[in-house]
Amino acid sequence: MRRLALFAAATLFLAAGMAAQTIPDRFFFAEGKIRVLILTGRNNHDWRSTTPYLRHVLDLTGKFDVRVTETPDGLTGETLKPYDVLVANYCGPRWSAQAEKAVEEFVHGGKGLVAVHAASYSFGETSVLSENMGRTELFQQPWTQWGQMVGAVWSDADPKTGHAQRHAYEVKWQDARHPISAGLPATFPISDELYHNFRMKPGVHVLASAFDSPKIGGNGKDEPMLWTNAYGQGRVFHTALGHDLDAMQSPGFTVTYARGVEWVARDKVTLPARIDTNPKDQDAVRVLLVTGGHDHDAMFYNVLDGRREIRVNVDPHPVAFRNDLRKSYDVLVLYDTIQQNQLPEQHRQNLKDFVESGKGVVVLHHAIADFQDWDWWWKDVVAGRYVLKADPPLPASTYLHDVEEVVTPKPGHPISKGLAQMRLFDETYKLVWHAPDVTVLLTSDHATSDPDIAWVSPYPKSRVVYIQPGHGRETCEMPWYRQLVQRAVLWSARRLD
Ligand SMILES: [Zn+2]
Ligand SMILES: [Zn+2]
Repeated sequence: MRRLALFAAATLFLAAGMAAQTIPDRFFFAEGKIRVLILTGRNNHDWRSTTPYLRHVLDLTGKFDVRVTETPDGLTGETLKPYDVLVANYCGPRWSAQAEKAVEEFVHGGKGLVAVHAASYSFGETSVLSENMGRTELFQQPWTQWGQMVGAVWSDADPKTGHAQRHAYEVKWQDARHPISAGLPATFPISDELYHNFRMKPGVHVLASAFDSPKIGGNGKDEPMLWTNAYGQGRVFHTALGHDLDAMQSPGFTVTYARGVEWVARDKVTLPARIDTNPKDQDAVRVLLVTGGHDHDAMFYNVLDGRREIRVNVDPHPVAFRNDLRKSYDVLVLYDTIQQNQLPEQHRQNLKDFVESGKGVVVLHHAIADFQDWDWWWKDVVAGRYVLKADPPLPASTYLHDVEEVVTPKPGHPISKGLAQMRLFDETYKLVWHAPDVTVLLTSDHATSDPDIAWVSPYPKSRVVYIQPGHGRETCEMPWYRQLVQRAVLWSARRLD
């Protein structure tokens, strides 16, 4: 109904002779960022794993707005218009005449091109490669402008372009003063293929090379690895590195690639000498995650991952408590099961000192069964207990795996605020005791579950949270659950109010 009304309004609008408005670029792109389009979708290499990394690295710096096309064949001048840089992670057959013209005019007209690893192989005299490093007997007419842009082509004539066995080697700068190389160490290590015998085009400016050792089948020469080139008004950066994700993840590849992308766009480089692929804030909340005593899916470790404000160390009990934790940590996250007699007295004291010092505690899932005989712990601190064995008047608690349940966050608390009602596939607990004066964060509708399944303890000296869901992969992979637990960590560290 509503749709029909909108349609009618639009028809009237156009009928009245008013021109449809052009949507500005900023509607689609972040303002002030370098716009990058990665061309991929075909490669004899594993483009499905490397393309997300090439994107991720640029995203991490905050300087780029990155898009990906897996069908470059359909590109036109119009689709390329908003972009500043094309990154070629492509090795395969030629594109349509229209797409090739668009790419060539893009670079010639003053935009940037970055060619990664096998992209230099493409569109030349050599046979078209198939997926998974396969060869074919297919030959195409070379796209000569591509070689002119990239700055080199491959040849099957002697000496054949190619590489010896992949191995670890050093890449050294030939021009350490270029904006891409300035401030970087004189050499960097990588394990990669070392391409040799490129047919270089005149005018290419070699930035870095590597020695192609005859010991493993190399030609005994320094081979150009990284270079820049000019094509019309455009700038080009080529990296022969990046055979696979292992090669790309080396800091040397990562930083030279990212700086290369910035340079072709802006003719200068502002990126640092190292791209931190797991960036953490200086004052990130320091979490000690304690495991042990209960098996769990490894996916659990993902729950606290990927956030700048949270830095996590994992240590199993009892050794997790061997030192005074107050200086090193802000929040203790317990995902373990342990009883009092399994923890030496000094370790217990360290735990107590930490909790009484006003630091945060987040108890997850099966850790509600910790310290059944330590009243201070379960009555005062957690204000809850999964009763392992009936302890009159408390009946034994029960559990059930693989339950499809609907859970509802309570509004009003910073941890649960704004979280949607959610469907979980998880383990439920029933007859878990909790203190009457807890602040409930989450309830379940399921008959096999207690209604209250997450709460804040009334414990006055520190902020203590319990969250019951989190048995397996199905829950731990959920952004909703990750947000819930991460918010609990931040709130217990007094970073969220
Ligand atoms: Zn390769
Ligand atoms: Zn469980």
